[in-house]
Amino acid sequence: MMRGFWLLTLLLAASQAERLFIGDQVIRINAESEEQIKLLQALETREELELDFWLSPVSMELPVDIRVPSSSLSSVSEILSANNIAYSVLINDLQERLDQEKFEMTENHIKERSGRSFNFGAYHRLETIYSWMDTLVAEHSTLVTKLEIGRSYENRPMYVLKFSKGGNKPAIWIDTGIHSREWVSQATGVWTANKIATDYSSDASLLDNMDIYMLILANPDGYDYTHNRNRMWRKTRSENPGSRCRGVDPNRNWDAGFGGPGSSRNPCSDSYHGPSAHSEIEVKNVVNFIKSHGNFKSFISVHAYSQLLMYPYGYSCKNAAHQAELDAIGTAAVEKLTSLHGTRYKVGSICNIIYQASGGSIDWSYDEGIKYSFAFELRDTGKSGFLLPPTQIIPTASETWLALKHIMEYVRDHPY
Ligand SMILES: [Zn+2]
Repeated sequence: MMRGFWLLTLLLAASQAERLFIGDQVIRINAESEEQIKLLQALETREELELDFWLSPVSMELPVDIRVPSSSLSSVSEILSANNIAYSVLINDLQERLDQEKFEMTENHIKERSGRSFNFGAYHRLETIYSWMDTLVAEHSTLVTKLEIGRSYENRPMYVLKFSKGGNKPAIWIDTGIHSREWVSQATGVWTANKIATDYSSDASLLDNMDIYMLILANPDGYDYTHNRNRMWRKTRSENPGSRCRGVDPNRNWDAGFGGPGSSRNPCSDSYHGPSAHSEIEVKNVVNFIKSHGNFKSFISVHAYSQLLMYPYGYSCKNAAHQAELDAIGTAAVEKLTSLHGTRYKVGSICNIIYQASGGSIDWSYDEGIKYSFAFELRDTGKSGFLLPPTQIIPTASETWLALKHIMEYVRDHPY
């Protein structure tokens, strides 16, 4: 009896253990021909190699970053050298970086618990972000309210912060963290919400004419999972009937060219589009909220990494009707961003500067009539990838703020 109990406990502990990435490398390839791109795309479908593409092979202009599990290192290097494809190592042992990240989080957590105030230059767990939201609302109760727009697949609340001086004005939407492993996105969301609350409490501000809504944890199940089980998790956590793999890419799940190029029908893929448009409750909750509000003028989704500011379309390479205007706004916004720390960004449509990707949020919002639709890919360009050191959170958030502010003020001054 006792033995059975302990065995069960051990099994449970093992099944709930955090995934380790000992000896995993992140490698970078700068493809030199279409043929090499094709070969790398074929690698993406070889499930036995268990490769994790941080940046997918799309064109010769963009690097390809791949996390290669230690068990596949020799096969991959053989394949690449047999095809004369050169690569460099961006991260030599991923687990070392993850241990460092965890150490820094724990240290910060101890300091915060011993009375130091909330540290915007640290990564935080889901519960900490949720309780910080309550503090923000309490400290700025005339300006900030917290709305629950629904629940996630695993029944976590999805909170939107509403910044408003009263009534229902034309609105701006900002979401962060739809891809859970892109931690600088959520951290930038937290910093930005605090910035809006503190800067815009003065009498004359953007909030005289607009409301701002922020969804900081757009994929709460995924975010929790990155903290407790698998730091590299990107998708939702929904079950896929008939498959051992879980989750849908919540940025391929919107009703905008759904199921088209740049999304996968394979539930095990990190870009799996899901069984149908808006199948993911996290996406559906946002869709319902935006539609029932009915007066959003701008929709901004924040991702990482690559340092890009993009506008529609992703599902097609055709020009959006407002291509010239969106490009001009984006170019000016990025100039402001760069002025702070010299961080360089590229501006363009998703299809033209990254790749054709269907079912994305800003294509949906744009086709819904929300003209000022943008997506950011924050720092960096690959040195740390998804593991951006926490020392870069505040510099990232504060430079991004200059771009966001430019877009929001433009929207205010150009109503339609
Ligand atoms: Zn993303």
